[in-house]
Amino acid sequence: MRLVFLGPPGVGKGTQAASLAADLAIPHISTGAILRQALERQTSTGLEAKKFMDAGDLVPDAVVLQLVRDRFSEPDAAAGWLLDGYPRNLDQASALDQLIQELQLTLDHVIFFDCAETELVRRLSGRRVCRNCGETFHIEFAPPPESGHCSGSGDCEIYQRSDDAEEAILKRLEVYQRETGPLVEHYRGLDQLIVVDGATAIEDVAQSLRGVLGLTP
Ligand code: AMP
Repeated sequence: MRLVFLGPPGVGKGTQAASLAADLAIPHISTGAILRQALERQTSTGLEAKKFMDAGDLVPDAVVLQLVRDRFSEPDAAAGWLLDGYPRNLDQASALDQLIQELQLTLDHVIFFDCAETELVRRLSGRRVCRNCGETFHIEFAPPPESGHCSGSGDCEIYQRSDDAEEAILKRLEVYQRETGPLVEHYRGLDQLIVVDGATAIEDVAQSLRGVLGLTP
């Protein structure tokens, strides 16, 4: 199966993508995660992306397309993939379309996770992440352990992503509305869009998602 997850920052795409990709035994390809990893490793791509990410802006299309192209060429992507956070504007959608054609593949579905902006701000500003294993917490809904370390290895460290600071959140939501919002109508027009209510609890979203994809629980 080849899927695209579309939706505003903070809607829970990443959480749903990780669990669905594991169920379907396909790679979860998050361009945001790949970029953060590149930054941790101080690669030239990571360092180039940093200023855009910190400001809540989109990293240039060509940089992200190359990351996606490279990731698609890895052996596990032959089984399918779940793209999370790509495409994020109409030019990226057409670049993805070209890449898919070039690779003689088809895109099965685009899932749009819908949620009101007030809820997104609440979710994002409280989000905390483990720097090493990526486990996600929320200061209100799923507080991190008081030790400041998650349940993974002892090296874990819980922090707030710099782009989850309030100013960057508002910028990311504004960028989302302007750049990514039009993709909803784009994919609806192509009859590829499935809408899932992303405002409900994680387990309820997971259930709706499997329901619309016709997967048995
Ligand atoms: P995310 O983890 O999906 O919220 O992405 C974090 C940040 O990485 C975004 O705010 C962008 O700066 C950058 N990023 C991730 N995916 C893309 C993309 N498809 N195009 C451009 N920038 C991206």
